[in-house]
Amino acid sequence: MKKIFKFIIILVIIATIVTVGGLIFTNTFFKLDIPDIKTENLEFGKVVKNENITDSYEIYTQKIESEDFINLIVNSYIDNLIEEFRNNNSSEEIIFSKDKAVLKQIIDTYKVNDDLVSIKITSMIKKVYEDEYSTEIYSYNFSMKSKIVVTLDDLFKEGYKTIIPDGSYDCFLLKFNELELYSGVHKKNISYNSLLEYNASKKLNAKNYDITQEEYDKLFSNSIDKNKKMVAITFDDGPHATNTYKILDILDCNNAKATFFMLGSNIEKNSDVVKAVYDRGNEIGIHTWNHKELTKLSLEEIQSEVNSTADAIFNLTGERPVLVRPPYGSVNNTVKSALSNYILILWNVDSLDWKSRNEEKIVPLVMNNVKDGDIILLHDIHSTTIPAVEKIVKQLTEQDYQLVTVSDMLKAKGYDTTQVKLFYSARQ
Ligand code: ZN
Repeated sequence: MKKIFKFIIILVIIATIVTVGGLIFTNTFFKLDIPDIKTENLEFGKVVKNENITDSYEIYTQKIESEDFINLIVNSYIDNLIEEFRNNNSSEEIIFSKDKAVLKQIIDTYKVNDDLVSIKITSMIKKVYEDEYSTEIYSYNFSMKSKIVVTLDDLFKEGYKTIIPDGSYDCFLLKFNELELYSGVHKKNISYNSLLEYNASKKLNAKNYDITQEEYDKLFSNSIDKNKKMVAITFDDGPHATNTYKILDILDCNNAKATFFMLGSNIEKNSDVVKAVYDRGNEIGIHTWNHKELTKLSLEEIQSEVNSTADAIFNLTGERPVLVRPPYGSVNNTVKSALSNYILILWNVDSLDWKSRNEEKIVPLVMNNVKDGDIILLHDIHSTTIPAVEKIVKQLTEQDYQLVTVSDMLKAKGYDTTQVKLFYSARQ
């Protein structure tokens, strides 16, 4: 009797060891392995998790929450992916969980600017009884403003195909200052700088410097804080075929805006520059057609000089300019009454850049005199002004000045431009 009892105890112990050991073994060697990928970049929108675990498969997906048109397009792609996966993998009876099918899908979002955005969808799929995962990368690129999907043909001029031939990639992402091309899971990055000559819309961030996340965030916050210092940088005598673009790049890289008082005689041959100045959020004003001293002209001649320039700008931008900078700052009562429909903008900080042509003189002249509400005079036709602008913009930004357009500054400082028609500054 005693012997049988002992034997049963031994049997129970062996059974326990086998069961526990078996469980540990199964869990270790037959465990379902879910790849550890997660969202790394979320530069716009939100992602929400979606899980669905059954006896034959496990699904770990995400959905995007952003603008309606983006949600519709991206989430229906994901819904189709899930449906196809279910159809292919739901009939099997799985014993070991490691043999289950798995769909794991992750969303990353990227932003070039307030208009262009990209969504990357990485899907990892494992079929039933298989151990290996296959990875698929898919992307969508959108214009937020036009609410459409954008292609490379929309963004680049024809010649870009010499650098990116048709068929050399499956999909692409628009990152902050580079294009990311995928062929399968292999990626290749091409900076917008190297595609500069094909950058049709000038909407891509070519010529950006390497910037930190903090600077990046700052770059895309466009609102003006009325309680913070601000100045308006103004450029006369342009537009210029190369200098003006260089200045636009400096402004964009520092989240700065400026006002360009253009000469009608320079507008026609530089119509692309005019559009770029406008499209990139700067203000355009009138500096007359021929740079004549208005105080020496008749009332009709003054109006002709200004109105013809306003027409040329309107034809290119669709917005009629309201600011006039009289050449040489010359104003008298005839000028004022001839231009009563416009706002005359003089300046109170003169860089004398046209005279010195020397950044070592231009920069201190501006920086030693500038205060909140000032209007700074520079000229975008002189190449020597460009390095000075780069330093002035950088130093003003470091001193917490907001660099804004003249109209935005007058508005922020509370001026009623239907009443006051001539300004040297917006100092209060
Ligand atoms: Zn001038």
